[in-house]
Amino acid sequence: MKGTRNGPFTITLQNRLALSYALFISLALGLLTLVINHLTGLIFNGLVKDNIAEKSGEIVRVIGDLYNPLGRSFDHASVEALGMHFVHEGYLVTVEDAGGDVVWNARSCDMQECVDVISGIASRMEANFRVNGGIQKQRYPVYSGSGTVGTIIIETYGPFFYSETETRFVTSINRLLLMATAVLTLFSIGISVLLSRAIARPVNKSAEAARQLAKRFRRREAPAADHARSPAVSIPDRYQTRELAELSRSINALAEELEAGERRQRQLIIDIAHELRTPLACLQGDIEAMIDGVYRPDREHLESCHEEIVRLTGLVQDLTTLTALEGEGPSELSKPLHKTGFDLAKLLQGTADQFRAAAGEKGIALNLRLRESPVIADYDRLKQVFINLLANALTYTDRGSITVTVEGAGDASPACWIVSVADTGIGIPEGDLPRIFERLYRSDKSRSRSTGGAGIGLAIAAAIVHAHGGTIGAENRRDGSGSVFRVELPLLSGIRPG
Ligand code: ADP
Repeated sequence: MKGTRNGPFTITLQNRLALSYALFISLALGLLTLVINHLTGLIFNGLVKDNIAEKSGEIVRVIGDLYNPLGRSFDHASVEALGMHFVHEGYLVTVEDAGGDVVWNARSCDMQECVDVISGIASRMEANFRVNGGIQKQRYPVYSGSGTVGTIIIETYGPFFYSETETRFVTSINRLLLMATAVLTLFSIGISVLLSRAIARPVNKSAEAARQLAKRFRRREAPAADHARSPAVSIPDRYQTRELAELSRSINALAEELEAGERRQRQLIIDIAHELRTPLACLQGDIEAMIDGVYRPDREHLESCHEEIVRLTGLVQDLTTLTALEGEGPSELSKPLHKTGFDLAKLLQGTADQFRAAAGEKGIALNLRLRESPVIADYDRLKQVFINLLANALTYTDRGSITVTVEGAGDASPACWIVSVADTGIGIPEGDLPRIFERLYRSDKSRSRSTGGAGIGLAIAAAIVHAHGGTIGAENRRDGSGSVFRVELPLLSGIRPG
């Protein structure tokens, strides 16, 4: 465990995993050992008890055989020889005749030997198996012919006792079990460390990669050239874990997104600087010329300066609008859409009317093919879209016509309205088509500057349409005369224009 800046009690993932595995495995092994020990003890004790009962039966049989029915007595010498033999095995025998008189008793024969044997068994059982027993007595009748001829009393240490061989056997089994548990525990701790390292390593690598990424973006470093195409993070995971692969993919996606954002931001700054440079240079030139007395500060020169200032103000205004629409501007500008129900056709009619005079001046026909098309949308912002499209159409068309059409996608109950603005102008170079909706992109820079555009109108239109969940696109007409802009707007059915 080590203290880090996250707090004094944090622990590394590797240590946590290793500790958890080791603890779990040790507990499981310990429990298993206890259960095995307990069960083998139970089984072995049962066997030993059976052995003691069997041995007692054998003693009764063997000593019973020493009864002589003719002499009506036991063979005393043989009983003593056998009796002392059984004492060494832990059985204290007493033989009584039919009248209850003692014929032979191990204690009276050799008291010291009896005490030594029984206390030896007691201390062995207590020391090795924590069994605290006492002397147990069993009486067995001896039969000969048709009647009972005596009784054999057997005293043993009870409830049961192990012989020396059995004690050695049981203690070595227990020792082996303990050793096996200890070896297995050590082995499993080793495996736990290896396993936890294998899991923690890729996680640490991804954390490190994320840290590097954050550091790079904090310092605003450009990605190295050889880095630019390759994934930012490669997490080594020899087990091919799905979650870790997912983590690595997410970090790479994040890195790519951050890099793309960074590139866009850099490009935008370059473009804005480029846009500002020309009008500012013109202004500077004109004003310096007036200060030096080269130009007179007359109406003509002041109007030229004013024109540049108007162009600059327009550019700044457009940029502010665009940033607000893309949700990055000051909060009061990036307000959500103010949606109301209205007829798209009426909006298009009104917008087109604003351009009719200018179109007439250029000798361009403005055709409308409209149908009732109810939508729920932000009226003012949609109007801005069509103003931008119509203004462009008028700017880039010298003769012919501009046609605005509304139709439903899907005939009977349309899911969305498609508005197209088609002109018979100069068209758009095919290579520029995918880029004309980008901020500050103009298909022909020198030409567009002369038209006064900064390349923001279509970016604003696209941002508004996307905010409505719609799409916008452009293509050249098939016959090569001009271009067509198509706006697809989803409508909410059931609501009629108010
Ligand atoms: P601008 O303010 O320069 O018009 P826009 O974003 O509105 O900026 O348009 C981007 C570029 O797309 C223009 O510079 C122009 O080259 C091209 N463009 C837009 N509309 C038309 C059109 N109707 N016909 C031909 N070119 C067009």
